[in-house]
Amino acid sequence: MDCHEAKNYISLYIDEEIADSMADQLLQHTEECAACRQLLLDMDYLSRLLEVAGQNITAAPDGFKDSIIQELGQNKGPLLEPILKIIQDGYKHLKSRFSRQD
Ligand SMILES: [Zn+2]
Repeated sequence: MDCHEAKNYISLYIDEEIADSMADQLLQHTEECAACRQLLLDMDYLSRLLEVAGQNITAAPDGFKDSIIQELGQNKGPLLEPILKIIQDGYKHLKSRFSRQD
């Protein structure tokens, strides 16, 4: 598996929508590749944050994700604010990483 494939499978892996054999290949790649390992960790972290915020948007199309993040930003309560900040920063960060090689 190369980095391009790995990036495609990471979000499926996070969403547990990946076959075991493919997950094994992905994890094997992340053991050898620091960049993809970090991306997997970041995605995993982000998806946990999103669960905390009550929104699982990892599988949503880009436009939908943006609208959810905007919506969350507009209706944020005091407790959600620090979480939202991390999500927004993390999402921007991930988005730039995903688009860099495409
Ligand atoms: Zn890689």
